Amino acid sequence: MPEESAPAPALQRLSELVRRVNSSTDTADVLEEIVHGVCEVLGYGVAAIARLEGDTLVMTAVAGPDDVRRQVLGRRTPASEILDEFRQADRWGILRFVPHGRMDNARLTNAWIPDYEPIDDPMAWHPEDALYAPLYSATGRLLGNMAVDLPPDSRIPSRHERELLEMFVVQAGLALSNAQQREQLAEQVRLGSTVKEVAQAGSQPGLDAILAEACEAVHRGLEATQVWMRCYPDEDMSNGVAAGHPRPNPSGAGAASLRADLSSVWPNPEPVVVHRGDETCDRLPASLPKLQEMMASVGADSVVVVPMGVALELLGYIVIGFPGTRGPLQPAEVDAVAEIARELGRSVHSARLLETEQRLVSELRELDRYKGELITTISHELKTPLTTIIGHAELLGEIHEHRSVEAIARNAERLNRLVQNLLDYSRVQDRLASVRVDIDLVEVCRAAIDLAGMLADTGRVTVEMTACCEPVTVQGDPEELSLVVDNLVNNAVKYTRPGGTVRVEVECDPTWLRIAVHDSGLGISEADQVHLFSAFHRSSNPEALSIPGTGLGLAISRRIVESHGGRIEVESVLGRGSTFTLALPRVHPAVA
Ligand code: ADP
Repeated sequence: MPEESAPAPALQRLSELVRRVNSSTDTADVLEEIVHGVCEVLGYGVAAIARLEGDTLVMTAVAGPDDVRRQVLGRRTPASEILDEFRQADRWGILRFVPHGRMDNARLTNAWIPDYEPIDDPMAWHPEDALYAPLYSATGRLLGNMAVDLPPDSRIPSRHERELLEMFVVQAGLALSNAQQREQLAEQVRLGSTVKEVAQAGSQPGLDAILAEACEAVHRGLEATQVWMRCYPDEDMSNGVAAGHPRPNPSGAGAASLRADLSSVWPNPEPVVVHRGDETCDRLPASLPKLQEMMASVGADSVVVVPMGVALELLGYIVIGFPGTRGPLQPAEVDAVAEIARELGRSVHSARLLETEQRLVSELRELDRYKGELITTISHELKTPLTTIIGHAELLGEIHEHRSVEAIARNAERLNRLVQNLLDYSRVQDRLASVRVDIDLVEVCRAAIDLAGMLADTGRVTVEMTACCEPVTVQGDPEELSLVVDNLVNNAVKYTRPGGTVRVEVECDPTWLRIAVHDSGLGISEADQVHLFSAFHRSSNPEALSIPGTGLGLAISRRIVESHGGRIEVESVLGRGSTFTLALPRVHPAVA
């Protein structure tokens, strides 16, 4: 065979390999094919590839006699030893040749040495000669090492033979590089989806459920032995919350020392790794003994402790136990743990805000209910003596006209209106209109104008009315709807200066019936309009304040209108006048 031309089977095998390296996702298979190719095509007696795992080279694929394979497969060698050897080697392109005599004795005892007598010929292969090819990634990171032994014809390989070997070596490097990229990608996906699952746990109702689900997600995603999480109690909550997986409830022992340690490092959120047997730990000095106990109790070889919190507030911690079999935590995993703690910190914070909000809402509801009860009780209690006072004042007035008697009667009447308003207000709170009869809104408006007639005459206010048609019928409670319209018309007259006008309009369209009460009165500022329909609100305008009123009429009106499925709105310009519009659906929603 002439030295220059590559043997056809070698090229064929190589092109087959190139294809496989580019298409296969099974790295172990490809590496097997490479080492067998080196033996079968290039004629080496032994070829082996070791992959770098952490800082150890692990023999992964071996071709050669069975006993050699049995001896070396799975063998682990510290990468530093091989790198030492490379330094003593002769460089043959990308190959490294360590001639016999250079290797130190310790290395020789560990290495596999073929069992035959060396021949006294400088070109003959000596049993203690070693030929390696370090396998690097495109970025120059060591990924593994290929070693060959027993070269063809037991001779030191020729330049041409080395070139052929190099071609196989390049393919092995590519296969390892591809495998590394795939693994990194899979790792990113795995860690990313764990972080996502923890973030999704944040949508669970309540802190217990959030922590329980997050524990499970971390246990599954990071292949942990045990996960514990704890949230400290806050000012509003008497108890903290803790969860664990697969062991459910952490005992709480050690929580205090861990809190003390983490408080002194917070707001540094970096995870701390503690190994079984570690005797010191700068960042967790007080909790180290307890962590060691924890590891022993769940059979973990190391734990990662990470504080969780938001801004300056330390909310709790996560402790994740890992088995010894999984190798040291990779930087990407430590980053993922930190991200998990950040996500969880955010979820815990929001869950607490929500809990506080819900508690406040229910306290407010309770307060509101109490307020309603108080108003009703007091108003009822006032009603009877007031009626008596008014009766007697009238009687006295008939017998003896006196300013004091008039004042008593006037003020008792005023009090009576307030009590009646209060009773109306508590009656219409939180309930739907129950009475539904046909009511003619035009008639309701006329009655309201009549009722306000005396006030209008005294105040020299003109009241007009227009209606689109008659009757304008709606279903509802006649007494309540009259109360609303009476109040709107009465207000319009009350808050209009002498010489002004009030116009009441009844309009209808296919879905709504409307009563609009326009006045050319005092008007209401924008700021006052915001609270106009709240109970006890009176405008800040001094002129309006000088006119007696309770601030309850519009609040009652809105409740009544809403209980009829309608709405009430105001448009007003201070000093120019106001329009209050009451809109009711043609068909009562409950009926529809
Ligand atoms: P009251 O008139 O008994 O005080 P309301 O609830 O009916 O109570 O009205 C609340 C406040 O809104 C009044 O105190 C008044 O300041 C203002 N207001 C109501 N209607 C008018 C109006 N038509 N023009 C000007 N201000 C009004």
